[in-house]
Amino acid sequence: MSTVSAYAAPAAGEPLTKTTITRREVGPHDVAFDIHFAGICHSDIHTVRDEWGQAAYPVVPGHEIAGIVTEVGSEVTKFAVGDRVGVGCFVDSCRECEFCLAGEEQYCNNPGMVGTYNAVGFDGQPTQGGYSGAIVVDENYVLTIPESIPLDKAAPLLCAGITTYSPLRHWNAGPGTEVAVIGLGGLGHLAVKIAVAMGAHVTVLSQSLKKMEDGLRLGASEYYATSDRDTFTKLKGKFDLILNTVSANLDMGDYLGLLALDGTLVELGMPERPMEVPAPALIFGRRRLSGSLIGGIAETQEMLDFCAEHDVTPEIEVIQPDYINEAYERVLASDVRYRFVIDTATLR
Ligand code: NAP
Ligand code: ZN
Ligand code: ZN
Repeated sequence: MSTVSAYAAPAAGEPLTKTTITRREVGPHDVAFDIHFAGICHSDIHTVRDEWGQAAYPVVPGHEIAGIVTEVGSEVTKFAVGDRVGVGCFVDSCRECEFCLAGEEQYCNNPGMVGTYNAVGFDGQPTQGGYSGAIVVDENYVLTIPESIPLDKAAPLLCAGITTYSPLRHWNAGPGTEVAVIGLGGLGHLAVKIAVAMGAHVTVLSQSLKKMEDGLRLGASEYYATSDRDTFTKLKGKFDLILNTVSANLDMGDYLGLLALDGTLVELGMPERPMEVPAPALIFGRRRLSGSLIGGIAETQEMLDFCAEHDVTPEIEVIQPDYINEAYERVLASDVRYRFVIDTATLR
């Protein structure tokens, strides 16, 4: 075992503070790496505030992790010391169920994927995330970061990137598709960049026009404020695919009305309260409401390679660990452009 510095939430609603955690001994199939950067995902905030009702404190959040390999186990074949690597939202799964075998480990049902933090591993130990100096992970759950993507910009791709790439691929976004992205935050801004790189025609639906210049610079063709009721009249029936990245409850009827015949709205945000869905909004227009959870390991590697090839990287603000609590407040105020990334050098 080794010890490493980390930032942990001691209890619901309490600020994160510096602490020390242990990492397991490097096993034969394990990769140990120094964490260089960790992104702040809104899911970290939902978790530490116990909005999903299942937090086991203390929680060290962080599932957008990028760093450099320092040690590999005797049986490791995919990685060597010095490699640039990343870890996303899960660090293990059963490897036997139909979903694991299909490369969709995020939907493992036996009993489920092991989250990078706030979960219990198959060794019975709680998992702790990337707001720390180093981590040990089985090589099958480690990704290779392409040379052209700097480590700080790679981190957010490990959750925000794959969470938006996967549904865009699944619902065939590309030339001729009308895609809308609700919410221009961490997920939303990457959804715009990735959908544009796939060739789709992209519209941003944001609360206001404050970030319009940015949205258009990221590649969106159109940008509307959802605070303006006219937006919902103007865009009625326009979209083949809508990605909802908003972390709060929205009036789903309004947004479903923007779908074309047979269009799909994919829910990516996980607000605290259940959503209300008016049946007519689905029935008139044979519309679909779906959801999507991150992506499997193979698809995450595919996404990283796609981003390298198409020069897609997130817009980030790099912060020091002692700024995490302020960064959380800014994310909650939709004042993030567009992902906070923690420089973990002082935790190593
Ligand atoms: P984020 O950076 O905070 O972005 C969310 C955006 O939603 C904000 O920037 C804001 O955009 C908009 N928004 C916030 N509050 C709103 C409100 N009350 N009404 C309308 N719009 C509002 O968060 P994120 O890290 O992208 O995560 C977004 C959500 O996805 C979270 O719920 C997170 O837990 C979830 N998530 C899900 C998955 C998955 O696998 N499905 C993976 C990662 C994250 P504008 O200012 O442009 O309106
Ligand atoms: Zn996340
Ligand atoms: Zn499984």
